[in-house]
Amino acid sequence: MAKHQFQTEIGQLLKLMAHSLYSNKEIFIRELVSNASDALDKFNYIRLTDEQFKEADWKGKIFIGLDKEDGSLTIGDNGIGMNEEDLMSHLGTIAKSGTKSFVESLTGDAKKDSNLIGQFGVGFYSVFMVAEYVDVITKRAGETQAYKFSTDGTGEYEIKPVTKEEHGTIIYIKLKSDEKEFLDKWRTQEVVKKYSNHIAYPIILNYSQEETTGEGETKETKMVKKSEQINAATALWTLPKSELKEEDYIEFYNTIAHEDGAPLCYLHNRVEGAQEFTTLFYIPKKAPFDIYRADYKSGVKLYVKRVFITDDDKELLPTYLRFVRGIIDSEDLPLNVSREILQENRILANIKQNSVKKILSEIKKLSGEDAVTFAEQYNKLIKEGIYTDYTNKETLLEIVRYKSSAQEGVVSLDEYISRGNSEKKEIYYIIGENEKALRNSPLLEAYKQSSIEVLILDDKEIDEIVTPMIGEFKEWQFKDITTIEAPESKTQEEKEEISKEFKSLTDKIKSVLGDEVKEVKTSTRLTASPSCVLKDSSDPMAGMAQMFARMGQEMPEIPLIMEINPDHEMIQKLNHLEDENLFSAISWVLFDSAKLSEGLEPKDKVLFAQRVAEIANKAL
Ligand code: ADP
Repeated sequence: MAKHQFQTEIGQLLKLMAHSLYSNKEIFIRELVSNASDALDKFNYIRLTDEQFKEADWKGKIFIGLDKEDGSLTIGDNGIGMNEEDLMSHLGTIAKSGTKSFVESLTGDAKKDSNLIGQFGVGFYSVFMVAEYVDVITKRAGETQAYKFSTDGTGEYEIKPVTKEEHGTIIYIKLKSDEKEFLDKWRTQEVVKKYSNHIAYPIILNYSQEETTGEGETKETKMVKKSEQINAATALWTLPKSELKEEDYIEFYNTIAHEDGAPLCYLHNRVEGAQEFTTLFYIPKKAPFDIYRADYKSGVKLYVKRVFITDDDKELLPTYLRFVRGIIDSEDLPLNVSREILQENRILANIKQNSVKKILSEIKKLSGEDAVTFAEQYNKLIKEGIYTDYTNKETLLEIVRYKSSAQEGVVSLDEYISRGNSEKKEIYYIIGENEKALRNSPLLEAYKQSSIEVLILDDKEIDEIVTPMIGEFKEWQFKDITTIEAPESKTQEEKEEISKEFKSLTDKIKSVLGDEVKEVKTSTRLTASPSCVLKDSSDPMAGMAQMFARMGQEMPEIPLIMEINPDHEMIQKLNHLEDENLFSAISWVLFDSAKLSEGLEPKDKVLFAQRVAEIANKAL
């Protein structure tokens, strides 16, 4: 028998485990089951690669035994096992950099440190949150001598030779008197399901249960030993695609997404090479109810080697993909990875990048009804992505859909440019709140007349922020039609000529409207309507408006410019009108009705109505 001191850091760690007010004690099961699974993976590997360890009928298994009488919980495996040296170097010292840095960050401030433990699984040592003492009985595969490593977690451990038939490890945990909840079959089963359901090896729970037989005199109650497998033991995503049917994928989707029926699409990928990981993603047919809530729930679960790590990390995918459901399973991440570490982790950053590319390319492939459904459900989020994900902007622009003056429903930018003027290479758009008002806006008249398609952007809040920063798509420039000259407009000389001809009229209207309008001028963008109004895009406030919107603030008021249609009969007549009162009333009505067409309100609705009545009366 040999007594040993734990490495100093472990001593500190153990003390902390035992005394911390740690609330998530159940994770010790996850840690030990995961160690067992690793040991099975290791043996499985040498069995398959090394003649010496060939064991034809070996089947990896994990056993959990609950002994209420004894007050102990046992976790066993028939994996690689450990010899004396292994026990000292693996359990007696901290080899892993993760644990080491964890211990180094310990401050001795018990409260603070117990939080740290929460963020960091600390493997085997987590058992001391619940254990009075622990025996590790183990035999390394290929060796004859077995050992028992015993400790009560107070700084010393003891190793002595014992006999054990099979290779593998049994961890016997004498539970502290107030930790007996883990002897309850349902409690332990629940923990295993929660964290280890997709461990690839069967987890067999052995427990005793009272059973009554016979009746009357012969009635007898006794404890009966039970044994049952409590995990699914297949990590669906680890199976080759060729072995999986659509139903399998749908069933798994229903479990993880809590949804009925089939998803819009799914994608299952295994990446091998310098980094290994598997992803299985689903896009629901209907957007999850909480995607526009700040406290939405992440739909992606992170596994490391099939061990569940978290379903609460919103950084696994970019926020605009928050409707995606599924799993990421990394072979390279350490199990005991903290939240903070996850966020800066390079391995994860790489997985994320790869996943986004795959998801977007799958979305791009959607066609027909599916593409329509996708646009209906997620277009706004794609717009969000255009704004936030610079790397994938081009792909997102291929995915996004817009309403268009050319047709009902939505169009893609590729469709737009296929119909547009390939010499000018301009994508015209107009932003507003109301689709119908936008479609009927006088500002579109010149475009309609020249059969130039204009995109109708009616997600005003988001479009106003996102669209101006798009810049270009496949070398086509985005143009807000309210900030540019109308198409096919007259030559500069012609325009100046007209402007001169109507100068006295525009001056006169401006003097009637006063400060309500910044400028009144002749228009080249109108064909049917007598007048229109535009926000002055040269006003410094117009540029600021975006920033205000981004900060969620009310937009500052931007001065309006009124344009009149010199070809319109009414404007021509107005140019020669002598009745001053009528002139004033008509000027106001022209201005206010132009505002109405753009979804803006007349300043004084009562006066507006009175003026309309006055004009009508004169006309009769
Ligand atoms: P981790 O598993 O993250 O490496 P642990 O502290 O849980 O950290 O375990 C330390 C080491 O002890 C493991 O890396 C492994 O080598 C060894 N070990 C733990 N449990 C077992 C087991 N059931 N069978 C074989 N080796 C084990």
